[in-house]
Amino acid sequence: MTFDTLGLSADLLRTVAEEGYEQPTPVQAKAIPLVLDGRDVLAAAQTGTGKTAAFTLPILDRLRSHANTSFSPARHPVRVLILVPTRELAMQVDESVRTYGRTVPLRSTVVYGGIPMDPQIKALRAGVEILVATPGRLLDLVGQRVANLGQVEILVLDEADRMLDMGFLPDIQRIIELLPTRRQNLMFSATFSDEIRRLSRTILRDPAEVEVSPRNTTVEAIRQIVYPVDRDRKEELLAHLIRKDDLRQVLVFTRTKIGATRLATWLDRQGLNAVAIHSDRTQPERTRALEEFKTGEIRVLVATDVAARGLDIEDLPHVVNFELPWNPQDYIHRIGRTGRAGATGEAISLVCIDEADLLRGVQRLLRQAIPWTVEDGFIPDRNVEPRPLRGPVEGGRPGAGSRDRARPVHHPHRKPVQYRAGVARS
Ligand code: AMP
Repeated sequence: MTFDTLGLSADLLRTVAEEGYEQPTPVQAKAIPLVLDGRDVLAAAQTGTGKTAAFTLPILDRLRSHANTSFSPARHPVRVLILVPTRELAMQVDESVRTYGRTVPLRSTVVYGGIPMDPQIKALRAGVEILVATPGRLLDLVGQRVANLGQVEILVLDEADRMLDMGFLPDIQRIIELLPTRRQNLMFSATFSDEIRRLSRTILRDPAEVEVSPRNTTVEAIRQIVYPVDRDRKEELLAHLIRKDDLRQVLVFTRTKIGATRLATWLDRQGLNAVAIHSDRTQPERTRALEEFKTGEIRVLVATDVAARGLDIEDLPHVVNFELPWNPQDYIHRIGRTGRAGATGEAISLVCIDEADLLRGVQRLLRQAIPWTVEDGFIPDRNVEPRPLRGPVEGGRPGAGSRDRARPVHHPHRKPVQYRAGVARS
């Protein structure tokens, strides 16, 4: 399969070739002709599948007839609205729109919270056809009468599952009320959960469904491994593995912001350059950390799930689950950071006895057992009793930081993990 059969215009095909893309990814092959046809699309595609180009390329072609060089803002109304859950993803999608659209004279901009509004207001007042936005900041700008959504022709909800997880449903509904009823709708989500299907019924019209990887499975290129370890020896094991295998560019996940900060500080003191990236950090701090990580100045980036969403780090060789996530879906999102677009990667999970249920949840979702290995010198103590984990507030809004508010979680049916080399069974 090549790009030329999909119906894209010649200049976009040239751009794609210049980017070094030899053939469309599965989601691109399926979604591009549908979007060009004007269909509503519901696509299950996780990060790393090439989904951004799958909607951006055909949108650029559909919008091309509106391209003009007028200085009048009125000639550049917002025609495409791309809603995304996080600032990192917003920046990344904006960059993709600029990259793929470099030959198409359409204007685009991005708005997200955490930075001053003035430059965003200026860009919007000048007129843009393509607007990438996080919901909260967009509504603020609408409230100030800077953003007018009355001429939107195409709505994209990117990482819709994450937007629901982050509690953005009311904001999305308010935004949709501001859009014309006649429009094309594209919804991308890592998985088709029941909630996503419910949301899609309220937004999409007769959508074509695109599902590229089997439901809830992880990218095959990723080697997954579990290290059972005592709860108070995880830091030590992590430092040991990084040194022993000379790991570089390691993205480490914790469940909480405070855990991320603590771990990064500890690793840094051990001489392993480490920085924590989480939603309490300012945007410039996060951008700088990401840049330094990409260039290799920072060896270990410690992140929470919310902060890591949308980070565009290609060919990342190692992802470490220092703590397993509460939500098994987040495991898939996390390890999707490695093995992107065909690169191979390794996902290491450090699992203590308290996380037995979380591991079972992940394996149930993957419908596979993850292989184990016990590291020499780190054999877990069999006599340790599991302790209840401190969990997030029920129905918590990670975006509002409540994921970090602790509440004990009870595990009435807890069975102890069987520690043995080989395969962990749930
Ligand atoms: P995404 O899933 O949109 O975050 O894309 C993941 C990565 O895949 C991005 O870094 C893209 O540059 C890259 N990519 C997108 N489409 C292709 C393609 N057809 N061939 C190779 N790489 C691609």
